[in-house]
Amino acid sequence: MNVKEFATIPAPLINRQKDINALVVFLKDIYIYNFKCIILLNCNNYQQKISFEREFDLDSNVKVNCTCPSFNFEFANVLYKNDCLLEPNKYLKAITKLPQEKNRKSTLSGCKHVIAATQFIIENQNKINQFIKRKINKEKFL
Ligand SMILES: [Zn+2]
Repeated sequence: MNVKEFATIPAPLINRQKDINALVVFLKDIYIYNFKCIILLNCNNYQQKISFEREFDLDSNVKVNCTCPSFNFEFANVLYKNDCLLEPNKYLKAITKLPQEKNRKSTLSGCKHVIAATQFIIENQNKINQFIKRKINKEKFL
């Protein structure tokens, strides 16, 4: 899944749209590590981490996680099976058994924070590109 796919609310979760629109997302930091781009965001006091396969690119596959309970209980399992779960060792219980009550149909998506965070990335892609350029230039002179 890429950022665009994560930002799209899947049909079974469309009733969450209002909640998602009300969320406020903050960019916390961007790391470039081994040419990979990792974006840290904050939404509702939970932290989202979006890790790109390589450089920042909306069409590049990403792995994601969020510190909220819903991410753990509803989405970690299905994301793991689709190779989209970042730091799976943090979700061992969730990835070894199926989600119990919610998301029984294993809808491939993120929690509302991940959806809002990926929408934020798309809306702010120019700012993020500038941030990355500044960061790379700074590192060159260190
Ligand atoms: Zn979340």
